[in-house]
Amino acid sequence: MKNVVILGSTGSIGVNALLAIKKLGPAWRALGLTVNSNLKLLRRQIRAFGPAYVSVFDYAAWKEFSGDIPRGVRLLPPGVEGLAAMASLPEANIVLSAVSGAVGLAPLLAAIRASKHIALANKEPIVMAGDLIVQEARRWQATIIPVDSEPSAIFQCLAGIKPGTYNEVVRRVFLTASGGPFYSVKRSLADITPAQALKHPRWKMGPKITVDCSTLMNKGLEAIELQHLFSLEVSKIQVLIHPQSVIHSGVEFKDGSVLAQMSNPDMRLPIQYALTWPERVSSPVKPLDFVKLARLDFLKPDFARFPCLELALCAAKKGGILPAALNAANEVAVKLFLEGTLRFTDIPRVIERVLSACGPVSRLTLAGAVEADSWARQRASAIAENVKKR
Ligand code: NDP
Ligand code: MG
Repeated sequence: MKNVVILGSTGSIGVNALLAIKKLGPAWRALGLTVNSNLKLLRRQIRAFGPAYVSVFDYAAWKEFSGDIPRGVRLLPPGVEGLAAMASLPEANIVLSAVSGAVGLAPLLAAIRASKHIALANKEPIVMAGDLIVQEARRWQATIIPVDSEPSAIFQCLAGIKPGTYNEVVRRVFLTASGGPFYSVKRSLADITPAQALKHPRWKMGPKITVDCSTLMNKGLEAIELQHLFSLEVSKIQVLIHPQSVIHSGVEFKDGSVLAQMSNPDMRLPIQYALTWPERVSSPVKPLDFVKLARLDFLKPDFARFPCLELALCAAKKGGILPAALNAANEVAVKLFLEGTLRFTDIPRVIERVLSACGPVSRLTLAGAVEADSWARQRASAIAENVKKR
């Protein structure tokens, strides 16, 4: 029996993961589901999947839910405590981390320290403290399998190569990006509205990552994710805009061979692979038709129009608390943009100012990453206030 816990079951990844579990058959079970506050969908998921455990992060929603708990369901505490308890349930074999943002750090660590097989969609904790998380996973013999399509592609391309030796055999990593909705837009991006940023040309995802795709911050976060998950030098990572999103990323080896992972763009594939790894099982993804596809395009990223990418790559190279501060400042700026109080082009401005206020880079600790996260959030909110007044 495969008992799967889904952190963030009502999100874009969570919903697709539940469909995958259903398709995988009776040996697969959704043991636990967590949400922030979407009780309506949670109740529907409980009826359809019969989880034994549920956690609701938001306190008001948790209170409401605790007044009417469905029969057979055990409600865990609200907040991070419930998430962490869910991630370390003794009966769980697989933990899918699909919450959005830095809130996923504590449950990820809990899953690692319970030596789980972790399917990781939630990239923000890896950006905050990747090296330390990977070390902790090694120590506790937890497996981390990426869900995100690009890290999943690299993971698949590196299969068979001894972990720890990637830098010796890999010359370059091609990290592909669709470019988001504004890549070919020629006019100024200052007046981009949240509704426009939320219309991604290829992928249907949660709001935060969709905005990150439109600023190219998502690609920067993924570069940091690759840096840590595969201990790769950042200078080896080459970002390529690839509008068709068919090559999900690739690796060039020192002998000149390039391996790339390809498929029609469909998150159901990497989600399922992260759950069933090392097995491959059939999936509902439409097969590639190369003749119909006819061409694949690649462009260099435009760092000047999309400064978030450069900011992230720079933070990755410098290390220390910078990636954690970058991630936190980005979360704050994206939230304010979605609320309509910050302009699209002010997102990188806020992040840049937070990064330049960071002190000298020193060795990172987990406590330091958490502290940097909360410092950068306060700083970003204050800077955004000034930027708004301009
Ligand atoms: P969504 O916004 O669609 O879903 C987020 C999920 O997490 C929801 O279940 C939500 O609950 C829950 N959640 C949100 N905030 C909190 C919180 N503070 N505490 C606890 N739970 C919370 O996000 P996505 O599914 O799009 O993305 C999830 C993660 O996966 C992100 O880190 C993203 O970068 C990554 N990812 C996503 C991809 C995609 O295709 N969507 C692709 C690659 C990576 P509720 O519904 O109640 O708000
Ligand atoms: Mg991705």
